[in-house]
Amino acid sequence: MSTLQVTNSLTRKKEAFQPINPPFVGLYVCGPTVYNEVHLGNVRTFVAFDIIYRWLLYSGYKVRYVRNITDVGHLTDDTEEDKMLKQAKVMQLEPMEVAQKYTNGFHDVMDLFNALRPSIEPQASGHIIEQIEMVKEIMDAGYAYEANGSVYFNVEHFNAEHGYGQLSGRNIDELLSNTRELDGQSEKRAPLDFAIWKHAAPEHIMRWPSPWGDGFPGWHLECSVMSTKYLGEQFDIHGGGMDLKFPHHECEIAQNKGSNGNGGANYWLHSNMLTVNGTKMSKSLGNGFTPAELIAGDHELLDQGYSPMVVRFFMLQTHYTSTLDFSNAALKAAEKGYQRLMKAMVALTTLTYENGQVDASINGEVKKAMEAAGEHMNDDFNTAMALADLFELSNRINALANNQQHVGTLEEDTFNQLKAFFPKFITEVLGLLPETTGGDSHMDEVMQLLIEIRQDARSNKDFSTSDKIRDRLKEAGIQLLDGKEGTSWEKA
Ligand code: AMP
Ligand code: ZN
Repeated sequence: MSTLQVTNSLTRKKEAFQPINPPFVGLYVCGPTVYNEVHLGNVRTFVAFDIIYRWLLYSGYKVRYVRNITDVGHLTDDTEEDKMLKQAKVMQLEPMEVAQKYTNGFHDVMDLFNALRPSIEPQASGHIIEQIEMVKEIMDAGYAYEANGSVYFNVEHFNAEHGYGQLSGRNIDELLSNTRELDGQSEKRAPLDFAIWKHAAPEHIMRWPSPWGDGFPGWHLECSVMSTKYLGEQFDIHGGGMDLKFPHHECEIAQNKGSNGNGGANYWLHSNMLTVNGTKMSKSLGNGFTPAELIAGDHELLDQGYSPMVVRFFMLQTHYTSTLDFSNAALKAAEKGYQRLMKAMVALTTLTYENGQVDASINGEVKKAMEAAGEHMNDDFNTAMALADLFELSNRINALANNQQHVGTLEEDTFNQLKAFFPKFITEVLGLLPETTGGDSHMDEVMQLLIEIRQDARSNKDFSTSDKIRDRLKEAGIQLLDGKEGTSWEKA
């Protein structure tokens, strides 16, 4: 088996992945801002990193996966209004109520798309003391200054000593030439400086005491602090959407180096944007729809509703580093592809081995396709190519199930491997689960498959998966009945 290659934004190259302390891997992914609902663009990024997490687990790594919740003021620049406070005012709620409401909603969405929960999900608001500490360290090292109760990172000074802009490939002169001159009102010494601590005006509700007076942390600081706290000063992978590369991740690196001399992660991975007619889907542009709207088909961009698994499949058909344009036609095609895969998975469960005339070439092709799926995942998590391998296997499975080809054309070993590999790869690596779309005549077969997956999970002591299957079916109004003769099901 080949070794895993990843595209590292830091070096702009595909590199062999070498964890600092194998088999342990530290993975930090910037989580959602929770002042409103996530849209499908956000889901794409979280699904991309879910695949990365799943592949690392499948490859035998012990992953500590940290994904934060940005629940403290999300200021995209130093002067803009705090979006969390704005939303709290509109909804007449406490800011923490807003954060909780949308955090709960985010979890529901991640469950719908079958994205695994992280190992740690720290909240920015729970790490204010650590953030104040890091501000102090950066100041002590001489890379930040105080002005009127706020603290700013001194980018030019940092640049002179460490270089700023390595991740995004921007140099400071270019950045300066694109930046407005500071007006006389600004507390910042230079236009590229960014706030790491902000003074809170009297009406600002989210505020904490600090050596510089009451205030709140700058947006970029939380991820530097929480990744360092849970994964160490130097860890393996840091991820997020491409739009976070600059300024968010660039500023994170500066803060990390400015406070402890290390740059945080060895590998910076970025997933590309979900677009609508070529434009990035975003909260502010209003060209986004929520997962609930997507499922119900309740948005002007949607011809019909699409199930979460179909959408997940649609996302996996494109490599995570490429942009993905939303279209109804592409989703309808994905629906067909997804169903083909599910049907093959069901058909495989009905097959049992019988001896026959082994066909070395067919047997070899099946083995090769199974290997290729793994090789493709090792090639920078190429789900698009891995899906092509699975389709090749689906064709073979269908031929066996339709009696166009005898199971004995495969060696018994290959047949058994295929039976274990195919559903495991689809459900565990790609996270694609069977789902019924109402009035489906394959309900029985699909239920049989779910029962088998649950049984396998229990035999592997993977009780979180087995409980999840039982609980999610219960939510969907289906009761699993465990008896001496095995498991059956009924509509509750
Ligand atoms: P936010 O809550 O806006 O900070 O976004 C959460 C995550 O979604 C970040 O990693 C963003 O980079 C990512 N993201 C935002 N818009 C899109 C999009 N249109 N396509 C893919 N990812 C996105
Ligand atoms: Zn972040």
